[in-house]
Amino acid sequence: MGILEVRDVNKSFGGLKALNKVELDVEEGSVHAIIGPNGAGKSTFLNCLVGLLIPDSGSVSFNGNSLLGIKPHEINQAGVSRVFQTPEIFGDLTLLDNVVIPTLASRDGAFKFNGWKRADQDSETIGRAEHMLEDVGLIDKRNMHAGSLSRGDKRRLELAMCLVQNPKLLLLDEPTAGMSRADTNNTIDLLKRIGERGITKVIIEHDMHVVFSLADKVSVMAQGTVIAEGTPEGIKGDPRVQEAYLGG
Ligand code: ADP
Ligand code: MG
Repeated sequence: MGILEVRDVNKSFGGLKALNKVELDVEEGSVHAIIGPNGAGKSTFLNCLVGLLIPDSGSVSFNGNSLLGIKPHEINQAGVSRVFQTPEIFGDLTLLDNVVIPTLASRDGAFKFNGWKRADQDSETIGRAEHMLEDVGLIDKRNMHAGSLSRGDKRRLELAMCLVQNPKLLLLDEPTAGMSRADTNNTIDLLKRIGERGITKVIIEHDMHVVFSLADKVSVMAQGTVIAEGTPEGIKGDPRVQEAYLGG
């Protein structure tokens, strides 16, 4: 049985059918890539998984439990973490604070950002945040403001913010978008290391180098639906996939 099972998910925006009968099975511990041309519905689909959008119909089950009708923070607490297409970090705060905050928020659903102080936190929480920053290669920058980081470093920080919550399922929306080749390769290495810990990953990616380096399985979306599925090697020569890209 898959850790994530999606059946017949539909979502329209007015007259536009953004998702049309989407089906997906993600094996526990695997890296599952979703590729497809711009506007295929990939981000909309991810938003439906984390509760930011509510599908018009269909079912989404994670570890055997339905995720539909559940609030985003509850989905997060169930073990689903997401990296956005544009990094969502606290630019005015230090890197260390950026990683401590999601630790507190995942522990306490009623966590209040206002009035929060790092000095109030126990050494174990701080130590864990530092360990995460070390893990993603940012420990030397722990006291810098997050807003001053390069794009690649912001991505790494965002990953640390997700990982500190101990997710079972990590959803990544174009994690290497806008990165240099060197940063992309660093990110691939980092995601491989995360994979070694058994975290299941769903990764939206248009860089085929990344897909081929990481994915166990690939689903191809076009015009709101999954048009092909297989191993990276298997889908490479699929004429439907080539047509979707050329026609998209
Ligand atoms: P992808 O991530 O594959 O590029 P998206 O999921 O962002 O595609 O978009 C799929 C389609 O849905 C596009 O045509 C897009 O314009 C439309 N869309 C996405 N979000 C909204 C929204 N909030 N309101 C209206 N249309 C949207
Ligand atoms: Mg997108």
